[in-house]
Amino acid sequence: MTDFVAATTMQSEITMQRELGRWDSGQPGPTLLVTGGVHGNEPAGVYAAQRVLAQLQERAPQIRGRFIALVGNLPALSENRRFLSRDLNRSWDQESLVVNQARGEQERSPEDREQLDLIACFVEVERSASGPLVYCDLHTSSAAGSPFLCLADTIDNRRLGLTTGVPIILGIEETIAGASLEWFADRGIMAFAVEGGQHESDEAIANHEAVLWGLLVKLGILPEGFVDLEPHRQRLRQAVGSAPPIVEIVHRHVIASADAFRMESGFVNFAVVAKGQLLAKDRHGDVCAKHKSLVMLPLYQELGDDGFFLARRVRWFWLLLAKWLRAFHVAALLPLMPGIRRDSDDHDTMLANPRVARWFVVEFFHLLGFRKETERLGCLAFRRRCSRRVNRSL
Ligand SMILES: [Zn+2]
Repeated sequence: MTDFVAATTMQSEITMQRELGRWDSGQPGPTLLVTGGVHGNEPAGVYAAQRVLAQLQERAPQIRGRFIALVGNLPALSENRRFLSRDLNRSWDQESLVVNQARGEQERSPEDREQLDLIACFVEVERSASGPLVYCDLHTSSAAGSPFLCLADTIDNRRLGLTTGVPIILGIEETIAGASLEWFADRGIMAFAVEGGQHESDEAIANHEAVLWGLLVKLGILPEGFVDLEPHRQRLRQAVGSAPPIVEIVHRHVIASADAFRMESGFVNFAVVAKGQLLAKDRHGDVCAKHKSLVMLPLYQELGDDGFFLARRVRWFWLLLAKWLRAFHVAALLPLMPGIRRDSDDHDTMLANPRVARWFVVEFFHLLGFRKETERLGCLAFRRRCSRRVNRSL
């Protein structure tokens, strides 16, 4: 049985419904679940998903598994604003969700309602999946530059992410708490956010579309030969340019509205900055780079609480080492190291005494896929996300 809900290409009609469309031939297989417009001023992901849906509708392939596209923040998209009362790409951690669910309907903000509605959709998709589930959240940024992926640092996410040909940014979850990726990562579901390019640009839509076709083929959802990937790969190669394949966030510049933060003009994603280079100005004066690094997500819009991120390139040696260390379950030895113990309540969390666990211990945690979450009882808590066994079949 083939099921399709018509998608439109008119921006004014984005407001109509949560589910943009789905293609399902009734054959068991992987599910690719996509959201666009989680930030309401970023409709490119919605347009890209509509393009893919339109092709599927027109050519009606028999596929394995499903392709499902949802709209993120419906009311904010209709006003072309990032959000109405709070960022919908935050507060996806368990604690915040419990608070949201406990609120009365009248007390909920528009984004609280959107979040609960999205979760109901996610749960339905997860429950009805007949194979592995992959979640892809499509975004754009206020700065130009190469597209990139953000993901929770599991080997499965890295493996699938690298096949897209789009650079990966590690460690964003260590700096931003509660992105929607967390909801999926906590369930062992493979999940990426794709930053497709600059808001309102045609390139961002085409980059998103290229990533989606690549994933549909890679996951074995589309029949062989349905889509010629070469033009899409060519487009992404051109968009990525000389950006390195994997970088790691080393600094997040948090801002508040009282800071009067103003990014210096001309920075694009992956721009190399020298130590001491002027990046921005705020009420305290100049904001300069402390080390040579790469600028990510420089803020050139009104709303947002991240001024910019700084990243560094991760060399292949460290990527291979991480892969081997994880394959041999070296993490099991961590509690033998001085100052480190396993959290008795959570098998995947390690507690490190900051006086004993020096900087190289933090690096070692990263190699093993652990990211710093919080401080607990005077200790640094590092947590890792585990992949489901079913993901290995992809
Ligand atoms: Zn966004």
